[in-house]
Amino acid sequence: MTALRVATLPALAAIPGLVHGFERRTGPAGHETRDASRARVGAALAGEGRLLLLTQVHGRRVETAPWEGVPEADAGMVRRAGDIAGVETADCLPILLVDPKRRQAVAVHAGWRGTSLGIAEQAVLALVAAGSPPEELLAGLGPAIGPCCYEVGDELRPAFGSDADLVFAPGPRGKAHLDVPLANALQLARLGLRPENIHRVEECTHCSPDLYHSYRRDGRGAGRMINFVGWGA
Ligand SMILES: [Zn+2]
Repeated sequence: MTALRVATLPALAAIPGLVHGFERRTGPAGHETRDASRARVGAALAGEGRLLLLTQVHGRRVETAPWEGVPEADAGMVRRAGDIAGVETADCLPILLVDPKRRQAVAVHAGWRGTSLGIAEQAVLALVAAGSPPEELLAGLGPAIGPCCYEVGDELRPAFGSDADLVFAPGPRGKAHLDVPLANALQLARLGLRPENIHRVEECTHCSPDLYHSYRRDGRGAGRMINFVGWGA
């Protein structure tokens, strides 16, 4: 993984053979195309396996490897060595779910919409259906726009049901701020993940222009970071 700048989580780095990372930006907004970004990260990981990406649509569908092309889904599950699932983010939350014992994992892309639709829940259920007990899963929540910066409209509140009181807080300008990482952590805990197995990269993409792309900060030309998980071949 020589050419990649990534954040990692110690709890995931400790798993033998697991390949994971939350990419950091390699240049300013617009310095490379999406295709170039995909090719660069795919080449950097080629020694470990094949990077499998998705056409992310802010939905709740989980794709299972191996797959060809870039199918529409917001989570990708890998179950054999040499398949590495990746999701692209710039403010949305990347989540890596790992079953160390059965060596299967899911990469999840969760923005506010996917979160409210339960994409993290669907990813856990896919692992459970493949034999993983939730209490043995590790979750890594990557860098995302934090509640410090994510001002949203009140019209989003109903989509979060009974979690709304926990994940929305009034911001300094009177508008609500949404905590997407917390909303996902609540979802994972409800499904039976142990709190001590839910790990986070605490950095906010919007607050950290030197480290991360941010759609809200950089606009339509914002680059994407690729976040990946799998076992090396
Ligand atoms: Zn922030």
